[in-house]
Amino acid sequence: MIRHLIQRWRQHREQRLLSQFAIPDVLWALTLARYPFLARRHAADLAELRRLCSFFLATKEFHGVNGFEVTDEVAVAVAAQACLPILKIGLDWYDGFVGIVMHEGEVIAPRETMDDDGVVHAYDETLAGEAMEGGPLMLAWSEVAPEALDRVEGFDSVYNVVIHEFAHVIDMRDGLANGTPTLDTAQARDQWAATMESEWQWFCAQVDAGANTVIDPYGAEAPEEFFAVAVEAFFVAPNELRHEQPRLYRLLAEFFRQDPALDACGELRPQNH
Ligand SMILES: [Zn+2]
Repeated sequence: MIRHLIQRWRQHREQRLLSQFAIPDVLWALTLARYPFLARRHAADLAELRRLCSFFLATKEFHGVNGFEVTDEVAVAVAAQACLPILKIGLDWYDGFVGIVMHEGEVIAPRETMDDDGVVHAYDETLAGEAMEGGPLMLAWSEVAPEALDRVEGFDSVYNVVIHEFAHVIDMRDGLANGTPTLDTAQARDQWAATMESEWQWFCAQVDAGANTVIDPYGAEAPEEFFAVAVEAFFVAPNELRHEQPRLYRLLAEFFRQDPALDACGELRPQNH
């Protein structure tokens, strides 16, 4: 009886949140048009993505910095891209943080590094986004805006800062930013380690040789960055990634329980489907 009541209460609460944070049709259509890799999904996936976005908007808090106004367009653009990776594995992967801090442009962060002789060097790092364990998550709108994604920087690598930072959140859920998210079994962990290592080595060799890669060359920096840029490519250019690094594609498809190269409906559908 009590279980039944709790279930009903949950359903009631979900319905209330869904209606309170429902995304208007026009705004949803606009978001899909601006981020075509979202629109390529089948209708059932898009309906679930839209539902998850409402829960995301209900449970996360956006803060605009220095007068930056977080409009509904901005919030839904972030929510829709952030919810794509967890579409089949659940929104609780993002339970570790609440706040999303939005800047108008990139952020200059002072950094320090110590060399082998113990001398500290100060430098500035330009950040398009940053994910920290326990949050908040920081994003620069200039890098999230649809125009930013079309920018070609001398190669055809995928660039998507929202998916990048949320991939770090998924990675860090176990407290470690190491490119290995929580996996259920020892067998899955062994398979992950072996595949990631060999795929990273192959990728680094390509980058060293100056070859074009669908994954951002930034992934050569460290295993956790390789995971984040690989997830970007997996969701934004799945066919290209499947062609370039099929074993890596398969590993990510198993983890995210999505096969975006197959799940795509092949052509841009008219809205309202
Ligand atoms: Zn990163």
